[in-house]
This record gives sequence, structure tokens and C-alpha cells, in this order.
Amino acid sequence: MKHKFYGGVHPAENKHATEHKPIAQLAKAPAQVVIPMSQHIGAPCKPVVAKGDQVLIGQMIGETAGLGAPIHASVSGKVVAVEPRPTAAGVPGMAVVIENDFENQVSPECKPRDNVDSLTPQEIIDIVRDAGITGMGGAGFPTHVKISSAVGKADTIIINGAECEPYITADHRLMLEQGEKVITGLRFIMRALELDHAYIGIEDNKMDAVAHLKSLVGEKADISVEALHTCYPQGAEKQLIQRITGREVPPAKLPADVGCCVFNVGTVAAVYDAVVNGMPLTQRIITVTGAAVKNPLNLVAPLGTSFEHLVEEADGFIEQPSRVISGGPMMGHAVYELDVTMAKATNCVLCLSKKEMPGTSNMQTCIRCAKCVNVCPMHLTPVYMNLYAKKAEWRETEELRIMDCMECGCCQYICPARIPLVQQFRTAKFELRQLAMKK
Ligand code: SF4
Ligand code: SF4
Repeated sequence: MKHKFYGGVHPAENKHATEHKPIAQLAKAPAQVVIPMSQHIGAPCKPVVAKGDQVLIGQMIGETAGLGAPIHASVSGKVVAVEPRPTAAGVPGMAVVIENDFENQVSPECKPRDNVDSLTPQEIIDIVRDAGITGMGGAGFPTHVKISSAVGKADTIIINGAECEPYITADHRLMLEQGEKVITGLRFIMRALELDHAYIGIEDNKMDAVAHLKSLVGEKADISVEALHTCYPQGAEKQLIQRITGREVPPAKLPADVGCCVFNVGTVAAVYDAVVNGMPLTQRIITVTGAAVKNPLNLVAPLGTSFEHLVEEADGFIEQPSRVISGGPMMGHAVYELDVTMAKATNCVLCLSKKEMPGTSNMQTCIRCAKCVNVCPMHLTPVYMNLYAKKAEWRETEELRIMDCMECGCCQYICPARIPLVQQFRTAKFELRQLAMKK
């Protein structure tokens, strides 16, 4: 049943610092949370609270304005600002700032359901929508839209437990410690899609999670838990689909076009919380790691907690980090201020020491070795895309299908000349989007 995908690399896993550390609760709750109104693909949410309002955990504070998912308060307290704030993605965006009253008062609307067995597929989709659940492994696509658009179209559900990015262990710990939520949440999604079988793909550096989830599936055998030979970027949607089903998603097409629907393990656990406990998505598990922090750890924190607070939970820096990254080292984004905050898809704060962070000072010119072409899982030609991007010849990069680049970083990782290829591609894609908008 397992197939190969083209390209990929094998970076050092560097998960040892946190893979055996159980998910911790915060030692100290944040005094303030800054909750961005854009945490998903689609239009930013519209704030529905104003400065001075009192809010409760789980209360809606941002409503959808088009494609999107609502956003809820992650702490109880007083709204002290509704204004643009810096985000980990680099672009400032509207945010609701809540001063924590440390009372942990939950909205009365958030209460456990006693009729979960009789919920219809549409009722499950509506619950997922109202709970503001979005993809928790990366892009942040609204989950209810993904399910709705796959009804009657998808014949295969795949749960992504690959967690192929180095350093990150949040999903690994989730599968080990909250496996019941993963399995039951997945069965709700199966019911919503009216499918009676699903797969969970997990890399074989997490065999304890494979064994645990297999034992939870038990004799029902409605879910196949697949151990996948470790290879980055196996957790990318298209690669995971190909690895498990052998189906290749064509350029510019979606998983549903080949009959597949992929969800992250964190997403299905959030579905469980929404359906069973009536709790919207207000917190998540995050890995705070890298050799620059004193005590790397996995912890659960309310959305909107600052990176600064998360680093304090890891007992602070032992050296000034060479770089702080939101996400993993391959696909994450560098952040330059620690006052940015975690969102629904933030799975890691990575604080790299000077030893860990490869410098760019010895950058050389391209030697046309073609290694980047050999590892690109999207069958692109990074060497040429880079040549045109450097000359700001955006149309030429488009002809080379740069918009299909998923910014996985394989080309940059393998490049002996240490050329910052992904940065070039992000710039080129941004320019192409600007050109398209002008048109
Ligand atoms: S970053 Fe883009 S060009 Fe480079 S390997 Fe990944 S998909 Fe290919
Ligand atoms: S891997 Fe680097 S040096 Fe080799 S062809 Fe690609 S861009 Fe040039």
C-alpha cells in the first residue's frame, strides 16, 4: 500500500530534546493575549468585541467575513485593545488584545454534548465550523470548508501524523498522550464524509505512536495506521497522499481532485474537543526548542500567548539566539521580535544557537550541480527559478511554475553554494501575486 514520492531530503531530526517530554501545562498563565484576526487561509475575521468588553474563554471575538473560521477568546478577562499588531508571519494584522483576569471562566455556551452518537454529518460540519477549527499543521485551511467540499468527492481520508519537520514534537506527544481524541475525532470526520475507512500516516521515527494508535483502533480495523519511512517533506499534503495511495495530485489541483482529504492529527483532536466537549479552538500544543533555550519542552498554551512568554516557560535563553523561527527550520518563518504571538497553526518556537544556525556569509555562486532539481518534490527547477528571480524576471519564474513551489526548503537544504533559494521564491511569488492583482 505504500508508494514513493519524488525527491526529498533527510535533514538531522533533532527531536531528542523534547520527544520524550510529556505535554506540560503553563507554569504561569500569560497576563495578556494578543489574538490575531487572521489565522487561516481566507479573509481575516471581523472583530465583534470592543475595548472595555469582558469576555469568557470560548466566546466568539471574531466572525468570519467570507472564507474563514471564527476566532474565540482563549482567556477570560477584559478587552484592552482592538488594533493592528505585529504577527509571526511578518505582516501586521488586526488583533484583539485581552487582559487575563486569571479566573479561567468558560463561556456557558461551551458545554459537553450528550447526543454525539446521533449527530448527522451536516451537524458535525456545523460544529466544526462554529468551533473555528482550521488546519493545525501548516496552511490553516478552514476545516469545515475542507470537509464540505470533499463530501461525495473524496473516497480516502488521510490523517497526517508524519511531523517530518526537524525539532518539532508537538504532534508526536499529542498522539501518545491524547490518542483517544485523535481516533474518536477522526471517526467524527469519517461520519461527516460518510466514509467507513481512513489512514493515519506516521513516520517510523515515532513507532511508539504507531503502536499506541494501532492499539486504540483495536479490532474495529476501520483505520489503518501506517508507519512511513522517514523522509522530508513527507508531511506535505501532496507527498503524503502519494506515499499512502500512490495517487499524484497534478499541479494546481487539490487533494479532493484525486479523491483524498487530508487532516493534521492536531486538527482531528480539535474536532473531538468541539464535538464532545463543545469547546472551540482556543489553545494548542506547541514545542519550544532549539539549543538557545535552557529547557526545551512541549506545552499547551492559549492562542495569543507571546513568544516571549513561551521562551520564559522554557526557562529563557542560555545564549542570544542566532535566529528565532515560528515553525520548523525547513518551512518556518524567522521572527525578529518576541512580542509576536502563537496562532492556531503555530506548532513550534525554534530558537537556534549560533552553532545550529548555518551562516550565509560564505554564500557562493551557483555551480549548476543540479542537486536542487534532484530533490525538489514538486518536479521544479529551482536553479533556473533562482536565476530569473535574481533578475526580477517574474514572468519567466511563473513559466517555470514557481507558484507550485510549496517552500519546503529541500533545494536550499541541499544547495552546496548555500544560496537562500526559498527567500528568492517567496519574493517572486509575492511579486507575481501583486502583478495578478493589478491586472
Ligand atoms: S522549496 Fe520549492 S523549489 Fe525548493 S524543493 Fe521545495 S518545492 Fe522545490
Ligand atoms: S543546488 Fe545550488 S549550486 Fe547546485 S544548481 Fe541548485 S542552486 Fe546551483
